[in-house]
Amino acid sequence: MEIEVLSQDEMSMKLLIKGTNPAFVNALRRILLAEIPKMAIDRVEFTMGSIRNPGGEDKEYESKTPLFDEIIAHRLGMVPIPTDLELFGYRDGCTCEGVGCPNCELMYSLWKVGPCTVYSGDLELTEADEKFAIREKLIPIVNLNEKQGLVLYATAILGKGTEHAKWQAAHAVGYRNYPTIEIDQKKCDLCGECVEACPRALLVVDKKKVETVDGYHTRCNLCNSCEEVCDPEAIKVRADDSTFIFQFETDGALTAREALLQAMKIAGEKFGGFREALADIGA
Ligand SMILES: [Zn+2]
Repeated sequence: MEIEVLSQDEMSMKLLIKGTNPAFVNALRRILLAEIPKMAIDRVEFTMGSIRNPGGEDKEYESKTPLFDEIIAHRLGMVPIPTDLELFGYRDGCTCEGVGCPNCELMYSLWKVGPCTVYSGDLELTEADEKFAIREKLIPIVNLNEKQGLVLYATAILGKGTEHAKWQAAHAVGYRNYPTIEIDQKKCDLCGECVEACPRALLVVDKKKVETVDGYHTRCNLCNSCEEVCDPEAIKVRADDSTFIFQFETDGALTAREALLQAMKIAGEKFGGFREALADIGA
């Protein structure tokens, strides 16, 4: 198997995977969606009662919002939390025996009074490295009215997508077959209908022959419109079952590169375990 990076940035990646099969790329897709660990807020403690204004103004605020606490907790759960998989481990398997420690938990606090909109960026780190500060700062959480306030403490822990969508590290994960196109120039009568039919304008008539444009292979979605309109049957478009264009995004908790490396590691462990299980039963 060979992997070529077609494009990548901090949060997305497009790959060309050669010499494989649909089962493997689908396994990679499912691992990216459900198996990669990431941090997410799992516990929120709301402070009840009146809130004194530390600004010194003679104003009183009530600790209440237009939304139920459960909805706010759910919204906070979906905020991407920067994750370092070298540093954090699952709380259940931690040396603290599930009590909570800097190796398995990240704590944030929030203090806000209305009228205002509370955003994800209002979550402040408590005693942790600045690299874990919330990066997506403009996710709206709740609107506070006059005399309303929100004071809370939130704890993030490591989890994976099989448990809850808030721990899903990769999104929009998909793949498609690599297209191959054969144009029989002897049969082609240069009518140009295929050029007109292609919805993505991927064919041109150049120097008295039909050719594909640059980037054809990554942009053709195998709609077969060109083949269907070609009366002399000079065009054949096929899906290559051993080569795939694979793409995914992350929510920013992990970079796309970190997510891919982690997915490959997990795939290796799973296939290794499967191989051992097969050996055990003598297969
Ligand atoms: Zn711990």
